Amino acid sequence: MFTFISNTYFACGVLFVIEGSLGIILGKTYFRGWREVSILEAIITFLLGIALIYYDLKRKPYYVKCNKCIKIFKYEETIRGKCPNCNIKTKKATKKEINEYENAINQKEVEILREEKEANNITKPKKNQKER
Ligand SMILES: [Zn+2]
Repeated sequence: MFTFISNTYFACGVLFVIEGSLGIILGKTYFRGWREVSILEAIITFLLGIALIYYDLKRKPYYVKCNKCIKIFKYEETIRGKCPNCNIKTKKATKKEINEYENAINQKEVEILREEKEANNITKPKKNQKER
């Protein structure tokens, strides 16, 4: 939840949706005091809020790289841009680095799935063909 709050686009979107809903239902919105709005204004505010939330959820994660430990992080994983391991400023990752990182994650998932499959095969009781 905290990452959502710290995310400006998402927070603005939620605010706009709430303001828009108030406008549609009550004909007025609250922003440092009540203010009357037209239904058109309210609908535009509401739709803008939806668009902001949609944009934020569809947005690609922002990757950064630490030069000291040569690790790639999602920006949300850093401490305001600093490496969580070394506590030094990170750099924006290049496209090549991001691809390598994503491939590594996919590779790991494939391996985990394969290991699970193998484990299941071992623990499953084998059907005895002779018994009938
Ligand atoms: Zn580091």
